[in-house]
Amino acid sequence: MIKTERQNKRIGFTTSLPVEVILAAGHTPVDVNNLFITSASSEFIRKAEMTGFPRTVCSWIKGNYVASLTSNLDELIGIVQGDCSNTHSLLDMLTEEGIKVSHFSFPLDKTYTAMDAEIKKLEAHFEVDRSEVMKVKKRLDKIRERLIVLDEWTWKERLVSGAENHYWLVNTSDFMGNPDRFEEDLEHFMNQAQQRDPLPTRLRIAYIGVPPIYANLYQVISDLGGDIVFNEVQRQFAMPYLKSDIVEQYLHYTYPYSVFDRLKDIEYELLKRHIDAVISYTQSFCHLQIDNIILKRHIDLPFLTLEGDQPEDIDSRTLLRLESFFEIHG
Ligand code: SF4
Repeated sequence: MIKTERQNKRIGFTTSLPVEVILAAGHTPVDVNNLFITSASSEFIRKAEMTGFPRTVCSWIKGNYVASLTSNLDELIGIVQGDCSNTHSLLDMLTEEGIKVSHFSFPLDKTYTAMDAEIKKLEAHFEVDRSEVMKVKKRLDKIRERLIVLDEWTWKERLVSGAENHYWLVNTSDFMGNPDRFEEDLEHFMNQAQQRDPLPTRLRIAYIGVPPIYANLYQVISDLGGDIVFNEVQRQFAMPYLKSDIVEQYLHYTYPYSVFDRLKDIEYELLKRHIDAVISYTQSFCHLQIDNIILKRHIDLPFLTLEGDQPEDIDSRTLLRLESFFEIHG
């Protein structure tokens, strides 16, 4: 078990951050994105728009706003550098509603000293020291080692589907609030997966970009004859670097930094995993749509950009684009 002496609080956050610090303090980490997407998501969007959030703001922001208000959080940490340009206003709005908020930043200059200082600030905030945090990191790295195996079972052994890979990796941002239970469930799943016959090899797809808001994207791609064998950002959430130093771990994490850091990681994985085609997911009204221009320019493979908006099944226009893509490249 992770430390329990201090009073347990529910600590929400708006994207992956050094979760080791929250756990070392004996608190429960809660990624509000995961709460939003597994809840009555459309209803959350409607509520946020009734409050006055414009239609032209990303649905994740609206969903995270309502998720933060309705999930008994003791505090919310907003990642104000290295994630979303809307987070500052979201935090102000949540402060206005009476939620206790604090900040974390992935430093723009990406130096060891700056990252170390940010983690130290978080440690001071939660009154833990680096040795306590490192103990938790070592514990989480044991789970991360298993997730590296699970990822290999997706692209190499073909025992795990792209949707299953997505599920396990995306949930490592908060380990579903309880790393011990997460590990137990993961082991149970892997024991079952190990008994399977390998999946047939079809068109090998890389999924890049933020996790999809569509409810059925993985199913649709599979039905069209594609196998997602690389989930870019979800794999980053799982931090498969096993660095001995926590500062190095969060410098290695590509998502909060420049698109060129992401591109380097993506290009390496595309080659290693023998990828045939890339599906790049973007969210309506998201600044990362600009990064996608650069990714598309540099990636020399069939490349389809999808744009999702609402938390629902894929719309007919997107389905048609996917069908045409698979007809040409399948
Ligand atoms: S998808 Fe883009 S705009 Fe939406 S919350 Fe994430 S970073 Fe922000």
